[in-house]
Amino acid sequence: MTRRRWIAEHWDEATASITGAQAAHMARVLRAQPGMEADVVAGGHVFHAELAAVSADEVRFNLVSEVQADPALPITLVMAIYKFDHMEWAIEKATELGVAALAPVIAQRTEKHLAQAAEKRAERWRRIAHEAAQQSRRSDVPLVHPPAPLASRIRAASQSVRIVLAEQERTTTLRQLMLEAIETAGSEMPSLEIAIGPEGGWAPAEEALFDADGWRAVTLGPRILRAETAAIAALSVVASCLE
Ligand code: SAM
Repeated sequence: MTRRRWIAEHWDEATASITGAQAAHMARVLRAQPGMEADVVAGGHVFHAELAAVSADEVRFNLVSEVQADPALPITLVMAIYKFDHMEWAIEKATELGVAALAPVIAQRTEKHLAQAAEKRAERWRRIAHEAAQQSRRSDVPLVHPPAPLASRIRAASQSVRIVLAEQERTTTLRQLMLEAIETAGSEMPSLEIAIGPEGGWAPAEEALFDADGWRAVTLGPRILRAETAAIAALSVVASCLE
């Protein structure tokens, strides 16, 4: 049976601990007991651990031995903010699929009330990523950047291959661009930024800005996908090329 995996908030070279709601859940609901074995993620490393002490405020583990960790995919998913429930589902799926970071951006067609509420919502997005990372037994939690205007993300200096999922693009597929990027990167693994538009799609001025700043437009095929579907499709294509 696979050991449960927990992501610690505090650690040193020999112990790690979980506090807050997670600790209370482990103590009260899971009735965790000293001696229980688990995998504990501490500082991006995964350890085989043994539970040393349990209380509703803190669960402390002794770290026994380090185990093989699985690196995240070197991808930052740039997500135009759209209907929060659909977007939060996409954050959970992107985390399960191994994304390294999520960058919520305010696009021209992001609804105004969602743009205004985004700042406050970011903590919830980080909690969703943390829970999905734990559930999918990742050895790290994706970084969730603070919401920012799309133009600042487009123009930001970056060493990554920058890709915009463009439903109007008919020539270059994501797979073709990935094979080209892997070829260019040689023995390294290319790092990527992948941008997905809002429900209303990219505005013409945004498409021009992506183009002017060297982002490569790719298609995921002839059908128009919901943003959350496009996120899953794109990450699956990239993972199949990289792993
Ligand atoms: N403008 C679209 C329409 O005509 O209905 C709606 C945009 S779609 C719901 C949201 C985003 O998903 C798009 O901006 C794009 O980034 C991505 N997307 C959807 N289908 C795609 C496809 N076939 N190829 C590339 N990107 C796609």
